[in-house]
Amino acid sequence: MSNPKIPVKVKRELERKSADLRLLLELSTQISSAQKRRTLYNRIVKLFAEVAQTEKSSLMLFDEKTSRLHIVAGIGISEEAKRRLKLRIGEGIAGQVAQTGKSMMINDTVGDSRYEPLRIRRKPVHQTESLLAVPLMTKGKVIGVITVSNKVSRQPFIRNDRILLGTLASQAAVAIENARLYIEAITDGLTGLYVHAYFQRRLMEEIERLSRHPAPLALLMIDIDHFKKFNDTYGHPQGDSVLTNIARILKKNVRTGDLVARYGGEEFAIILHHANRSNALKVAQRLRQAVEGFDFLIENKKVQVTISIGMAVWEAGMHKEELINQADQALYRAKGEGRNRVCVYKSSK
Ligand code: GH3
Ligand code: MG
Ligand code: MG
Repeated sequence: MSNPKIPVKVKRELERKSADLRLLLELSTQISSAQKRRTLYNRIVKLFAEVAQTEKSSLMLFDEKTSRLHIVAGIGISEEAKRRLKLRIGEGIAGQVAQTGKSMMINDTVGDSRYEPLRIRRKPVHQTESLLAVPLMTKGKVIGVITVSNKVSRQPFIRNDRILLGTLASQAAVAIENARLYIEAITDGLTGLYVHAYFQRRLMEEIERLSRHPAPLALLMIDIDHFKKFNDTYGHPQGDSVLTNIARILKKNVRTGDLVARYGGEEFAIILHHANRSNALKVAQRLRQAVEGFDFLIENKKVQVTISIGMAVWEAGMHKEELINQADQALYRAKGEGRNRVCVYKSSK
């Protein structure tokens, strides 16, 4: 923000918004789930609409998988447009901005040949009188485009808007990239679950919190039964697909706030918040049954896979290691007692 070319008025506006931005950047380094990432996107479009004082604001991000720009958040944009609008690089205003890495300002869409109303099923997507589209760039690469349109005052966009939003866009790009990198670092590539290190950190934080505000918490340690044999029989790639499916089953059968992690190769750990012994046991049995009842299709043949679960419940004064150890011992017992079962830790004393 020390750029001498920035006019004083714009600078002042930037300073006014810097508190919001700081918050945004802070938030971005702690984004750990898709849900929180959506919150970040929504805050960004809100901030842009506020700063530009526009009726509409949209955030499009480039998706490597589809090679298209997708709307990930918008204000004043129809749900259908959000869902259906996918632009190739070079297509439409946002596509052109993504292609050139340069912002575009159009104050009279009707008289401007660069503007062509976007259509979904032949209908124009939204009515736009004037717009300003700025690229989101990190490390010289365009990751998306933010477009604001229709000033509330019906005034045209001016050069200062362009400078102001350009500066904000570079901060927003950092926030979005931070969030992406953080999520990537804590996510297991195969299953999409949290990695071991993140599980350890979160469990420690949870226990610290519970020491101050006690509440029930349970830990499940899960291991696939006879998985070595499965790999030997069907091959490692089929084994990987079992891991992915089990991860999905586990996530589907716990609450959104619960944390499911890939603890090791074919081991999973789940932190169940606000779950006492009997609640947690019900969840564990549900998970065990869901896996047992799932038909893993291998070369059109149904194959059954089972899991064993060890469960431990946190009690005041217990350390993280102790809780993990107890769940581990219970898991060991579940294996010893014949597998495909849930065992709860019992003190040997
Ligand atoms: P048990 O019922 O006692 O758990 O028997 P098990 O054969 O499952 O024994 P163990 O838990 O020690 O098995 C570990 C096996 O899991 C070894 C390896 O073949 C398999 N495994 C670990 N990670 C992966 C992975 O990422 N992909 C695949 N396909 N297999 C894995
Ligand atoms: Mg194992
Ligand atoms: Mg196993």
